[in-house]
Amino acid sequence: MKLIALSAFTDNYIWLWRQDDQAVVVDPGDAAPVLAALSRLNLQLAAILVTHHHADHTGGVEILQHQFAAPVYTSASEDWGQDDHRLAGGDSFALLGQTVQVIDVPGHTSGHIAFYLSEAQPAPVVFCGDTLFSGGCGRIFEGTPAQMLHSLKTLSALPENTQICCAHEYTLSNLRFATAVEPDNTDLQAYSSHCQQLRTKGKPTLPARLGSELRINPFLRSHQASIRHSVTRHAGLSESAQHDEVAVFAALRQWKNDFR
Ligand code: ZN
Ligand code: FE
Repeated sequence: MKLIALSAFTDNYIWLWRQDDQAVVVDPGDAAPVLAALSRLNLQLAAILVTHHHADHTGGVEILQHQFAAPVYTSASEDWGQDDHRLAGGDSFALLGQTVQVIDVPGHTSGHIAFYLSEAQPAPVVFCGDTLFSGGCGRIFEGTPAQMLHSLKTLSALPENTQICCAHEYTLSNLRFATAVEPDNTDLQAYSSHCQQLRTKGKPTLPARLGSELRINPFLRSHQASIRHSVTRHAGLSESAQHDEVAVFAALRQWKNDFR
């Protein structure tokens, strides 16, 4: 399989997963870049995967679905007018020779799901929408900090070589925040300069690797002493809150919301 990140709007990626002359797209917020890629690469659209109901992930679905008679795979607990294949965590299905496993990752929205391809070559792939970003995580709009933390821990338990296909190019601004939280993290410094070089050349910073995210992404590291100390200093957490990982995570997310 081949993964292609199609740019949409200002900073969205619509992931196109290609196998021979077939393609699957994930979160097509806009049909135009998908139609252009399908015609440029001479591909048939086999299916549409949707991680959550936001318009920047669903806006192009109807056009693509009708033009290609492509089935739509989406969350059972989010209603946005689609009823093809309504899925929940633990479900799995076959697509283009891969087994796709559904993982519940509530937090950004309450029915957000991720699609995990454990057998993909050369490494497993997860399409995680607006849950996990490189160096960051999604805003908590509908869920709770406890739910988001739990979702990120579920993703953290995937194999370290998993390719993380996020739906936005937020990496550099996430890394500025991560550096404010963990200024002494040398892995973070090295990763930041690597990503800056990619962006200077106009290349995506994605897919990210889970193994490297575990070393640099503060939202996957809220159990680490370095993060706890930094958040405690910033937010003035009480003695008991400092030892409550959900409280530390919630304060870290709030710090990011306010960070400029
Ligand atoms: Zn979203
Ligand atoms: Fe989004």
